Amino acid sequence: MDILKKALQNGLNGQGLSGPDAMALAALPNDNIYEILSVTDKVRRRHKGMEVNLCSIVNAKSGLCKEDCSFCAQSIKYNTAIKEYPMVGAEAIVDAAVKAESTGAREFSIVTSGTKIEKEKDVSILIETLKSMRETVGMERCASLGILKREVLEDLKESGLESYHHNLETSASFFPNICTTHRYEEDIEVIKTAKELGFYVCSGGIFGLGESWADRIELAETLKKLEVDSIPVNFLNPRPGTPLEGAKNLTPIDCLKIIAVIRLMMPVKDIVICGGRNVGLRDLQPLIFAAGANGMMIGNYLTTPGRDIEADTQMLKDLGLKPRGVDR
Ligand code: SF4
Repeated sequence: MDILKKALQNGLNGQGLSGPDAMALAALPNDNIYEILSVTDKVRRRHKGMEVNLCSIVNAKSGLCKEDCSFCAQSIKYNTAIKEYPMVGAEAIVDAAVKAESTGAREFSIVTSGTKIEKEKDVSILIETLKSMRETVGMERCASLGILKREVLEDLKESGLESYHHNLETSASFFPNICTTHRYEEDIEVIKTAKELGFYVCSGGIFGLGESWADRIELAETLKKLEVDSIPVNFLNPRPGTPLEGAKNLTPIDCLKIIAVIRLMMPVKDIVICGGRNVGLRDLQPLIFAAGANGMMIGNYLTTPGRDIEADTQMLKDLGLKPRGVDR
């Protein structure tokens, strides 16, 4: 298996695999997963050691979204019976941040549904929140607010925002199958702007939408080219009422292989396992780190519950992994 030797060499030297090499790796049968994991574990340890990034989110504005992302329970186009609410106040967001800090999270992200922040009032709430977080919590301040204008991103940065999250979700080729209400280029544009403004940029995707390996690798190549700092990896947890409610779940080994291929394409980046971890990985959750992840979201996801935080903390202890502190 020459591809594994090449993956190890290019992983340890930080160069990573090209798209065609990643395709060759992905073509290895699932029976080879433990050989793949023995490579990704070495690569992760070389670049990330035994520390893991823990992040936590608050859903600050839920549902009522005009977009039609076929996996998402927050779209107004689907009947999903989620809790819908407009932007909550600064105090509620800061309270959620304080709670998240007590669970060991190093990064806290304010997430809002939709692709835009349309109201002045909502921007003022975000600015007030960020200023208050600067005073009250030590965690890194992140937000996921859609396709924002440069001026709004600049204002938020000035108020204390450090990281910006915006997922591409899938490849450009597959994107029209999952969203028809905005263009992929708009997503790329906001990532480029956030990079230009000096944010630590998180951008990844959701897997299990019916995409092929070629789509997954195309997405990873795009992220590599954009030089994003962190890649959040989500696995579809099919939501009742969405077009993908009947989608077949990926197997836990499929999920591990997706993480592994991303690690071997981008050896030095942060890879954070987010939504769908418990559903996608089930009892194989501890293997996400051997597969190359160096972070995970803890607590609840946007519209679905996460795993018990004590169970996650215990898992890290049992694996000999340590939560990473804040750098500044
Ligand atoms: S993923 Fe975001 S933009 Fe798409 S429907 Fe859900 S909330 Fe709206």
